[in-house]
Amino acid sequence: MLDCMKAEIVSVGTEILLGEILDTNAQYISSRLPALGLDLFYISKVGDNLGRLTDTIEKALQRSDIVITTGGLGPTEDDLTREAIAEAFGEEMFVDPDAESRLRQFFESRGVAFPERNVKQAMLIPSAMALPNPRGTAPGWWVEKNRPEGETQYVIAMPGPPAEMTRMWEQEVEPRLRDMLGAEVLVTRTLKTIGVGESHIDEMLSPLLKSQNPTVGIYAKVDGVHVRLGAKAATEEAARELIAPAEEEVRRILGDILWGADDDSLEGVLGEMLDDRGLTLATMESCTGGLLASTITDVSGSSTYFKGGYVAYTERMKQMLGVSAELIETHGVVSAEVAGDMARAARHGLDADYGMGVTGVAGPDELEGKPPGTIHVAVHDGRAPEVVSYTFYQGRMATKRRAVTTALFLLRRSLLAHH
Ligand code: AMP
Ligand code: MG
Repeated sequence: MLDCMKAEIVSVGTEILLGEILDTNAQYISSRLPALGLDLFYISKVGDNLGRLTDTIEKALQRSDIVITTGGLGPTEDDLTREAIAEAFGEEMFVDPDAESRLRQFFESRGVAFPERNVKQAMLIPSAMALPNPRGTAPGWWVEKNRPEGETQYVIAMPGPPAEMTRMWEQEVEPRLRDMLGAEVLVTRTLKTIGVGESHIDEMLSPLLKSQNPTVGIYAKVDGVHVRLGAKAATEEAARELIAPAEEEVRRILGDILWGADDDSLEGVLGEMLDDRGLTLATMESCTGGLLASTITDVSGSSTYFKGGYVAYTERMKQMLGVSAELIETHGVVSAEVAGDMARAARHGLDADYGMGVTGVAGPDELEGKPPGTIHVAVHDGRAPEVVSYTFYQGRMATKRRAVTTALFLLRRSLLAHH
């Protein structure tokens, strides 16, 4: 069909506007639309109010071909999505006898008396077809109607509870959309980098950024900058063929700063590198309080290369584990020297090939006159420690997470350089 059909999402529920629930339905649906080749320009959130809901649907129909709603299909007074769709299309609701008997059976099979107000969930309008919902009582609606000018418009109404919505989407809605839209698919490929800033990568890739198909996008994430390639084509295979030469070009330009793709995690990729090389690792952490060890052990099979980690929070514990009292005395516990010695002591204490040390100020208060966000991470491979130091503060948790990412980055750099 048309290659540029526009979809729009309307999330219905006062709970969303009050911040009581997070609109995960819109996120889910929006993540599924690119693969269908549908453009999405608007997501609206609206409360359980007939006037505002009708307005929102009418406005969506003015600018989009497919309006997808979730929520407001329940049996209670404030569930008004059906009413609003009927109003927007100027159609009358009626009780569908088939749907009513299915609904009565649903209650009967559970040994519950049928609450008469549930009849509402068996209602349709002439342009609507019911979408089955075996996980709940509210069927969805697939509404299809021609505009006066001729093009067809669609409203797809799904229930709010995510388990019901996702099943309906996967089993009922997506297959219909796929058939209707033809085979135009979007395939994306994410290439992950670390160690170089967003603007620098933008500059390096600037000749590619004007490309329309595939498109090339740059996104700063917690684990580094991601480069996302996206191609639209009639088949998935054809889209992949469009992506392949662009990916090769990105790889040629970025080289070593690329560490993975798509669902790869930094700790997973590092685990593979250690495993392949038959190397082992030990950690000693201060300000990250074990987060580095926890992240390393998020990878299944990490026991083959991770020997263990010390959480050495106090000066006394660092010294107990063999960190030099003299270095602490001279440079302070938050210093490149102590981070290096922590890496050395961890490596030595656990008889590992690599030791890592992290010390810093997680914040919000300063320590030894050093500001929050001061971080020193070190890797020791038996020669001399390599240390990275920086100060960057965006809150305590972010500081800890960034320190972990930096430590993993440093380990990767060291592995690439020496093994
Ligand atoms: P409703 O059908 O609008 O009464 O919604 C029923 C329940 O579904 C709500 O209480 C939420 O738990 C859930 N729900 C509704 N809308 C959403 C949404 N947009 N995202 C996630 N959960 C939702
Ligand atoms: Mg509701």
